[in-house]
Amino acid sequence: MLPLGTVYLVGAGPGDPGLLTLRGRECLARADLVLYDGLVHPLVLRHARGIAQRTARAAGPGGLRLDQAEINRQLIDAARRGLTVVRLKGGDPLIFGRGSEEAHALAEAGVPFEIVPGVTAATAAGAYSGISFTQRDTSSAVAFVTGHEDPGKPASLLDYDALARFPGTLVFYMGLHRVAAIADALIAAGKPPSTPAAVVSRAATPLQRTVVSTLDNLGNDVASAGLQPPSLVIVGDCVTRREQIAWFEKRPLLGQRIGIPRPEGQADPVIECCFELGAEPVLMPLIRILPPADWTAVDAVLQRLHEFDWLVFTSVNGVEQFFGRLWAQGGDARNVGRLKLAAIGTATSEALARRQLRADVVPESFRAEELGAKLGPLVQGQRVLWARASRGRDVLPTLLREAGATMEEVVVYQNIDADALPEPAAALLEAGQLDWIGLSSPSMATRLATLLGPAARAALGRTTRLAAISPVTAEAAAAAGLPVAAVADVFTWQGLLDAIVAARRG
Ligand code: SAH
Repeated sequence: MLPLGTVYLVGAGPGDPGLLTLRGRECLARADLVLYDGLVHPLVLRHARGIAQRTARAAGPGGLRLDQAEINRQLIDAARRGLTVVRLKGGDPLIFGRGSEEAHALAEAGVPFEIVPGVTAATAAGAYSGISFTQRDTSSAVAFVTGHEDPGKPASLLDYDALARFPGTLVFYMGLHRVAAIADALIAAGKPPSTPAAVVSRAATPLQRTVVSTLDNLGNDVASAGLQPPSLVIVGDCVTRREQIAWFEKRPLLGQRIGIPRPEGQADPVIECCFELGAEPVLMPLIRILPPADWTAVDAVLQRLHEFDWLVFTSVNGVEQFFGRLWAQGGDARNVGRLKLAAIGTATSEALARRQLRADVVPESFRAEELGAKLGPLVQGQRVLWARASRGRDVLPTLLREAGATMEEVVVYQNIDADALPEPAAALLEAGQLDWIGLSSPSMATRLATLLGPAARAALGRTTRLAAISPVTAEAAAAAGLPVAAVADVFTWQGLLDAIVAARRG
């Protein structure tokens, strides 16, 4: 019989994918199967290496409709097949999360399991909206309450008289659709109508919004603000003290959705920068990066690296694919020990640095012309190898040959075009809900232009603006008929995002 796999019931935290615990990340990294619920931010799944499947109570795009018994059954079956399984749940698995039902089912089936706590929505909402539930001078207790139950229901487990008398802050989960009924029930049970109350919607996400009111007005104020689930209702004096410390809602790009046309697997640093500024990154890869169809040419050149004086990289992909193959073939950094190294920009030189290799030449601006100009005087009479993509401009080899170098090129990866704008970016763009698209190379600008249908094109300039990473990219966009609203001064994604901040201020 196969040894049983372990099931990890892991809390993913709410909203911000950075709120996952280290233990949670370890479990994701080792799981063969991840079953996650609809509240989990998709970017948390970046840490998973196994198959990830969404479980949803209601059928949605890409989601399976599963009831609780079916989820329990799947967890048990997978463990019996010897798989390591993560059951990933929004917030904390045991706070209104039905994690205990899953744990009981596993225990009954004799399946080993572990429960990994998560940041629950209430504590994240407090931290991200500047509300301290246990503010020392006003509240010495906090209660987490379900707002799901109809307060008018006679069989309700909730005692509103007791809640109205509770000496502290009340936090209702799942209560948005009943906010007026909850407030009325508390008032009817004797809570003063003037009691401060708030709703925090989509806490710890770039779309977070907070409405502060009083119990008697809360229903109306929340309805007129059009707040969306998931939301928490918070009742208590503490909600009035938040303005000064509501740090998250002061982020310069809060709520801005930014399309990131980076290839999958390469957007992580950009995602981090977006979160830091309060923006919501929407990944929309326009190209896919694949290994070469055939490694023969690469392997042959790896055998004779000693014949070259210079090795030139013009992308992070080039570095990763070149050294990945070198390693797979039994080589390592010593094989390039004699060669001088050139990188087109900081991202590429950092990729070398991660391998403990220092680039000898990095131009100020990320341009083949500049790399050519800087390398030209150094490569006369020398043998240069360029580890390149299957496609790209031919400026560099031309310039280096003119400078007197012997050039050789080897294709270390393929870049293949997407044939349509990826979802959900395409739908957001057409619906006028994508605020910006960042363009980080001339080819990305022209590629985007060819993929735009009439509705998407109409949205550009009206509801969606374009930001370019450099003047060269802005020129390419303009030439392709795309209006550019912001151009970076520093030619990095951070620079591009700073240009968006400046454009919004200006
Ligand atoms: N186990 C989860 C709660 C699941 S119940 C936890 O510990 O957070 C689902 C409810 O959680 C929602 O109806 C809402 O009230 C709350 N919730 C979850 N994510 C939230 C978020 N990002 N912002 C505000 N409320 C959230």
